[in-house]
Amino acid sequence: MLTAIAGINWGDEGKGRMVDLLSENQDIVVRYQGGNNAGHTVINDLGEFKLNLLPSGIFRSNVVNIMGNGMVIDLHHLKGEITNVEKSGLKITPDNLKISDKATIVLPYHITQDCLEEERLADKKYGSTRRGIAPVYGDKYLKKSIRMSDLLYPDTLKTKIESIVEWKNLLIEKGYGAEKIKAEDILSWLDENGKQFIPFICDTGEYLYAAHKNGKGIIFEAQLGALRDIDFGIYPYTSSSSTISAYAPIGSGIPGLKLDCSIGIMKAYSTCVGEGPFTAEMFGEEAKELRDAGNEYGAATGRPRRVGGFDVVASKYGVKLQGADELAVTKLDVMSYMKKIPVCVAYDIDGEITTDFPLGKRLDIAKPVMEYMDGWNTDISSCRTLSDLPENARKYVAFLEKAVECKIKYISVGASREEYIETK
Ligand code: GDP
Ligand code: MG
Repeated sequence: MLTAIAGINWGDEGKGRMVDLLSENQDIVVRYQGGNNAGHTVINDLGEFKLNLLPSGIFRSNVVNIMGNGMVIDLHHLKGEITNVEKSGLKITPDNLKISDKATIVLPYHITQDCLEEERLADKKYGSTRRGIAPVYGDKYLKKSIRMSDLLYPDTLKTKIESIVEWKNLLIEKGYGAEKIKAEDILSWLDENGKQFIPFICDTGEYLYAAHKNGKGIIFEAQLGALRDIDFGIYPYTSSSSTISAYAPIGSGIPGLKLDCSIGIMKAYSTCVGEGPFTAEMFGEEAKELRDAGNEYGAATGRPRRVGGFDVVASKYGVKLQGADELAVTKLDVMSYMKKIPVCVAYDIDGEITTDFPLGKRLDIAKPVMEYMDGWNTDISSCRTLSDLPENARKYVAFLEKAVECKIKYISVGASREEYIETK
């Protein structure tokens, strides 16, 4: 069984939390794209964790975790993340973590390049997390990057690094006028941060093909959300990789296999980190109240997230992009303080009212058409069945289901593992 768990919105929907929950009876969790610009918060019996690179199945003793070929990996960051997770007593070994030989390594000059470019752009900046993600994906497609398998061949690695660094300095030193990158520094960084991961490197595609053949349950974990997808998202305010479930088999190493199920994780209201069009955005006191209620501060960067009411137009588009068979709605409990629940039901684009998500200029000028539903104004975090929910909360969930035309299978009413409702 191949199940993708991917974001319907702009990210931070609670994918990590749902992967941690739904991996209970699964065998493998694979992260298939992105790098440490992600932040997945998981709260379970071992504690509270912020994962940037490690798949969220890492806390389950029954689960083998895989970092797929679609990922970009900052090895120094991964070292720190493992140390942090291991403080809980959990051990991370090649038995419960495998890294694709084809995954791309984020090198220190990618971070330098990311920072230099954001500074050059100044007030026109993209809102990069400055973790080198756009530069490293750029280099991947320019075919000038280092993969995990390169760590296995130190002689060839040296030659490759020397050649790439010479090229990179055309930009860093001669272009931006910044300090020259030295090949020996990159090689010693790789020596220091790469060695410990050599036993983890394998052909994860072969591993997954075999596991699938043996009937294992495999979850694919996405980073960010549909609207940040490099092709179909709010380009150029997207991430630099494919966040959609259709990419999961490719980014995991099994492009020949098809998903059995796509579970979309959809937030009960909207949040967005960084720049770009965000039609349903709230401002001022109203925004602050929701941000604080939902603790909407980025897990990877600590940045305050932009917030707004649920956006039917964007979410319907997200459901379509993810090919979602069913949905998990998260953070419904956060809205308990609201007397009236704001919902963006359509966009007004120069007088044209539409529920079809626009891109480019049409999205930039879209105005929200808002409606308000009655709130429930009571704590719902201890509800465990649909009938435990107050009537107005049930009405809101039913409204969401109808609006985005997809079945809601799970409702999350808290950040901890057990705080959820399964609807049927
Ligand atoms: P991800 O990037 O999609 O994995 O989501 P993040 O972990 O970045 O952001 C979701 C945040 O909401 C995290 O801090 C979670 O602990 C928290 N969270 C997830 N589900 C719920 C929920 O149902 N209720 C509440 N109150 N918090 C939740
Ligand atoms: Mg996140």
